[in-house]
Amino acid sequence: GCIGEALAAAARRWPDQDALIVRHQDIRWSYAELFDKVEQLAAALIDIGLEPGDRVGVWSQNNSEWVLAQFATAMAGIIQVNINPAYRTHELEHALKKTGCRAIILSPYFRTSSYVDILRELAPEIAASKAGELRSQKLPDLQWAICLGHDVPVGMIAFPDLMASASQHGRERVRAIASTLRPDDSINIQFTSGTTGTPKGAALTHRNILNNGFFVGQGIKLNSSDRLCLPVPLYHCFGMVMANLACITHGACMVQPAEHFDAQLTLDAVAAERCTVLYGVPTMFIAMLDHPSFEQYDLSSLRTGIMAGSPCPPATMRKVMDLMNMKEVTIAYGMTETSPVSFQSSTEDPVELRINTVGRIHPHLEAKVVNNLFETLPVDQTGELVVRGYSVMAGYWGDDAATQEAIRDGWMHTGDLASIDSDGYCQIVGRSKDMVIRGGENIYPAEVESFLHSHPKIRDVQCIGIPDDRFGEELCACVIVQQGEVLNPEEIVSFCKGRISHYKIPRYIEFVESFPLTVTGKVQKFLLRETICRKIG
Ligand code: ATP
Ligand code: MG
Repeated sequence: GCIGEALAAAARRWPDQDALIVRHQDIRWSYAELFDKVEQLAAALIDIGLEPGDRVGVWSQNNSEWVLAQFATAMAGIIQVNINPAYRTHELEHALKKTGCRAIILSPYFRTSSYVDILRELAPEIAASKAGELRSQKLPDLQWAICLGHDVPVGMIAFPDLMASASQHGRERVRAIASTLRPDDSINIQFTSGTTGTPKGAALTHRNILNNGFFVGQGIKLNSSDRLCLPVPLYHCFGMVMANLACITHGACMVQPAEHFDAQLTLDAVAAERCTVLYGVPTMFIAMLDHPSFEQYDLSSLRTGIMAGSPCPPATMRKVMDLMNMKEVTIAYGMTETSPVSFQSSTEDPVELRINTVGRIHPHLEAKVVNNLFETLPVDQTGELVVRGYSVMAGYWGDDAATQEAIRDGWMHTGDLASIDSDGYCQIVGRSKDMVIRGGENIYPAEVESFLHSHPKIRDVQCIGIPDDRFGEELCACVIVQQGEVLNPEEIVSFCKGRISHYKIPRYIEFVESFPLTVTGKVQKFLLRETICRKIG
């Protein structure tokens, strides 16, 4: 079915159960209340003139309005475009133009940035136009700017006023629209993180994300007595699919601890709301474990959770299981283009497997490891991971060439190198774009990086390929030295000798202060490579 129907079903089945707790807004809504407010917003959006298939950008930190917008757009058949809270003028313009948004729902500001000012810089016409009659030169499709809060700038619609304007007729139209929606309609456009280049907008359907949310929930045995604490951003699939859609399909309660990640507020929320499930990327768990008052929190309500997005250090995993009481924590692997999750460990997998692999393939999906000729490789061999099934995106929005390149015969080419063992457990080795081929030998940077991490004076390291006339490519290690330490290239080379194969020993060693990062904290190797190549010449 469709997302709106799934929420309606939850409201019928668990009307009085808590659906949403937003601690920083002092909000507690039952499923019946959530459903009613979602329908109200959907009606208001249709009343002002939006139509099914239109795109609406949502640009805000975590809050209740984000959740309402997610479900109201889906209910009205409007395609929500998730806009990263870290975006600034250039990226916002790209996202809105690329998807032709007719409206944007924005927060007035976030941290030290005024979103209102950023939008007005792109569309100065707003100030001189009546709400809903915007004619912007740079953003020709944009008609409405809907701003959260009561006091909003001239030319924008205040979110509470919009809600209040919903008519009974609008509600009836929304119900009529519901019967025309199809599970294979695109309902959400999410941009990839931009780790390997410019972010790509993946168009995802009801079928893609609703089912993925359901199976993710099933993977952690989510049920209607669970309370799921989500300190992760909603604009990303981790929040909106793996948390929100998992909750509504299992009757669990979504608990937002804060507008954005904060270790203390997350611990406060878990303890005060007796949360049973906690999500996060490894760095968030590290921050909570390192918090000075960590020991004072009663986390005994926790049972399980998901760590995803990047590999988790084994020590962190053990602490999360022992000190945070999350014995059943799972690891998930996925990508925006597959809605996102395709592999997840089970709550019962032995610890070793939860540390070293990303678990097994999700229900109703297929995966295989292939070589350059698209031949399936035997178990345990490393090649490109390809995934097929219900969760593969409809395509990159407005980019058929890129879609055909990525999805062949229904198989999504993940661009990740992996191996799968005879029990089906998958190990992610790195990205194929990052693989270095030196004189015919494959070097997996992640392997060399994890070895170099064991050097006590190295704080962080990234390995990249540098073009070379003789060998095709040579390996370069970009090293951040521990504070207060001195390290020279010779020391690193002699550390490698006898411990790793000679061809894996970096030919170049460059010392750097930091790495270029995406907003989600992933290293953008393509930018690092550009800088280093320019330097080495
Ligand atoms: P872009 O496609 O724009 O370069 P991106 O691939 O980082 O950016 P996402 O879709 O957000 O954008 O991230 C998916 C990628 O994250 C995967 O292809 C994989 O490389 C990495 N990844 C996700 N989960 C894990 C995990 N559990 N372990 C290791 N890597 C992971
Ligand atoms: Mg990607």
